[in-house]
Amino acid sequence: MARIKFIAGNWKMNTTKAVAVELAKGVAKGAPDGVQAGVAVPFVYIDAVGQAIAGSKVLLGAQDAYFEKPGAFTGEISVDMLKDLGVKFCLTGHSERRHVIGESPELISKKAHAIYGAGLILVHCIGEKLEQRDGNKTLEVCKAQLHELSSKMDDPDRLVVAYEPVWAIGTGRTATDAQAQEVHAFIRAELGRMFSTDYAARVRIQYGGSMKPDNAKGLMSQPDVDGGLIGGAALKADQFLAIVNAGK
Ligand code: PEP
Repeated sequence: MARIKFIAGNWKMNTTKAVAVELAKGVAKGAPDGVQAGVAVPFVYIDAVGQAIAGSKVLLGAQDAYFEKPGAFTGEISVDMLKDLGVKFCLTGHSERRHVIGESPELISKKAHAIYGAGLILVHCIGEKLEQRDGNKTLEVCKAQLHELSSKMDDPDRLVVAYEPVWAIGTGRTATDAQAQEVHAFIRAELGRMFSTDYAARVRIQYGGSMKPDNAKGLMSQPDVDGGLIGGAALKADQFLAIVNAGK
């Protein structure tokens, strides 16, 4: 079965409410058939964006979630709260949460299981830093971060892995098509060892790291690149839609 490409915008800590709603409306209006588009929105604008894209093909997403059930966790947002607002997918392990906020692999793993366990689509981000690539540690790092997942995640259609080399995020420096394909093929093979080959064949593996309208087609034409996780270029509806269309 062919994998439907999934292209998600990660808005990070950007936009105002008005900008978020306009952007969401623009994306919803232009989202084509034949490919899945989604937007991972700052918590405080999820409700407004959910209303702006209601009835469209665009999936509503969040950038983070806490793993505990609702309770005394000041400042945190639960998976149940996200579901209440109509969220369909949620990120974990983004490099900014790993390396800027300082989340540990243990915390990321707990969050991943809570998101997946609640029935949402999990977009689990992995990727090496520049010094790790230079030290030939790329596959080792990706393998360790993949193993934050477990065989309890038995529905491959709700598991998405985003390969995001840290040195390519927000830098304008993209992995070449061949560099991306090499790591994506490794990720699929490792998922095959962790789950099964049939399972791995159904998991979508997104590429993220300075994906733009002019490099999206080449990257998404690679056999194991099943979409993109888009930061900067997701903040303009026309640019984001150009990338989404490149995935058709
Ligand atoms: C990201 O943060 O997930 C990302 C890929 O950012 P950018 O597209 O700006 O490199």
